Amino acid sequence: MIAFAGGQIDTDTLYHENMHQWWGDNVSEGGYRMTFYKEGLATLAELLYRARSAEIAAGGPHSPKGRAAFQASLTREFAAIYRSGGSFWTGAPSNPEPFTLFAGSSTYARPAAAYVALRQIIGHRAFAAALAQIQRRYGGGTITERQLETAFQRWLPVQSASCHARLSHFFSEWFDTAYRRGGASHRPKITGPGLAGPGFYGGRCRLAPSGSNSAVSRSMVSTLPIATSTSPGARTVSPGGWTWKLPFALRRAAPTASSRRTRRRGRRWPGSCCTLR
Ligand SMILES: [Zn+2]
Repeated sequence: MIAFAGGQIDTDTLYHENMHQWWGDNVSEGGYRMTFYKEGLATLAELLYRARSAEIAAGGPHSPKGRAAFQASLTREFAAIYRSGGSFWTGAPSNPEPFTLFAGSSTYARPAAAYVALRQIIGHRAFAAALAQIQRRYGGGTITERQLETAFQRWLPVQSASCHARLSHFFSEWFDTAYRRGGASHRPKITGPGLAGPGFYGGRCRLAPSGSNSAVSRSMVSTLPIATSTSPGARTVSPGGWTWKLPFALRRAAPTASSRRTRRRGRRWPGSCCTLR
């Protein structure tokens, strides 16, 4: 339960604390060093709130202008964080200092920006599906950094060794590296498609042209609790805003005993994010 002393709270904070009911409460950090994981997601909720406000002002979620405003807001927020200098990048999120744990950029803004980049890398819908899957799998328990990263690796649109290695490098830069002061060359080098910085795809890790994404292997999802089936009408995902056709369909898995318990308790993931359709 979250209580606000005095009964007043700004909306950003409400979004932040509400997000903690899933990230921090339902799926708790596996240890002190994982504080960044939940605070990053709670900070991401603040960015999403501001993006949603921009979207509404520009025409709403059903308007192309509204959706563009949503994305532009996230892109702007990422750029503002990514250009930080000074001591912003000097603390590794997964190796926190006790005296800056709940006040430092390495706990809040840096991991939030990492999640924005991750959303661009694996695609907006896949990102939401990955989060929902983590809730189903780890709800009521804890998650380690390795488990968190593995969960996102499974949703990479290109399941090649070089793309997995690049995503591992991405996690290492954003979560585990302490840089020298100053920013610029002393900050993560891998970002996401459409964002400030060098992006993600390139070199040996490339997205295949739409409709011929043979690199997306069915084994990618065969290990997931989401059921898969071949389908003549292959579904699409949109990594980084681009649309790619998957050679199979994804549908919601049959409920597990744990997910039935969760439903009885009245918890559910906000929005219909739990499957690719
Ligand atoms: Zn928090």
